[in-house]
Amino acid sequence: MIQIGIFKFASCDGCQISFFDISDTLSNLEEKVRIKYFVEGQDDNKFETFDISFVEGSVSTPEQENKIREIREVSRYVVSIGACSSSGGIQSVRNFLDYSNLVQQVYTRPDLIKSLEKSKPISDYIKVDFEIRGCPAEKEAIIEVIYSVILGKKPYKPEYPVCMECKRKGNPCVIIFGKPCLGSITSAGCGAVCPSYNRGCYGCFGPVKNPQVETLKELFLSLGLNQDKFYESILMSFNAYHPYIREKL
Ligand code: SF4
Ligand code: SF4
Ligand code: SF4
Repeated sequence: MIQIGIFKFASCDGCQISFFDISDTLSNLEEKVRIKYFVEGQDDNKFETFDISFVEGSVSTPEQENKIREIREVSRYVVSIGACSSSGGIQSVRNFLDYSNLVQQVYTRPDLIKSLEKSKPISDYIKVDFEIRGCPAEKEAIIEVIYSVILGKKPYKPEYPVCMECKRKGNPCVIIFGKPCLGSITSAGCGAVCPSYNRGCYGCFGPVKNPQVETLKELFLSLGLNQDKFYESILMSFNAYHPYIREKL
């Protein structure tokens, strides 16, 4: 029996909702899989040992920093789910600003705020065995991880950019029409949803390995698509603090 834990850190809960979306699959696997910890989804939760710990959200408070280490100690595999957990999330935009100034401006009682200065991906604190990308996390990828652990195989993850999926679909490139698109530096997996609806990819699946950020920026500049630092502003999003992106901002 595969024991599963589903944990929430700093996040909007959207990735956990993906588990409700796959409830039929989980029901069909009830003799092989047991959800042992899922505060959002059930009343009876036990924090013991887990074969797979799925973690939603970034590490944003001192308590979360301790908790992610505890989860690592009791888990065979730790899987980050979604942009917050893999990259720090939209909340990591604060990492590029003056934290104490922000807290003063946003809260009436800043003395009560006990956040860390930076919102970071869980991989900044512990070894992560697998990353499921997206905002929210792609549900087929969650199923792939669960089946892979049951079968004792490595989960599949596409290692190519959204452009490949886009071209397979026969979409015209939206950049030709003056729309910025991060497809060439973004991990595939979504089926190129946004370009298929004639809008640019804004990178929610996070960067591919060695993203050619400067090259894409040069292309945007040559096409006049970088007015008012537009390029930086679309990167300054869900995945701004991904290790491949943070140094380029
Ligand atoms: S990755 Fe997106 S959907 Fe998932 S918790 Fe973060 S903001 Fe919500
Ligand atoms: S529209 Fe975007 S994803 Fe599609 S080919 Fe052009 S750059 Fe790549
Ligand atoms: S096309 Fe880009 S922004 Fe749209 S769902 Fe896919 S990865 Fe996310």
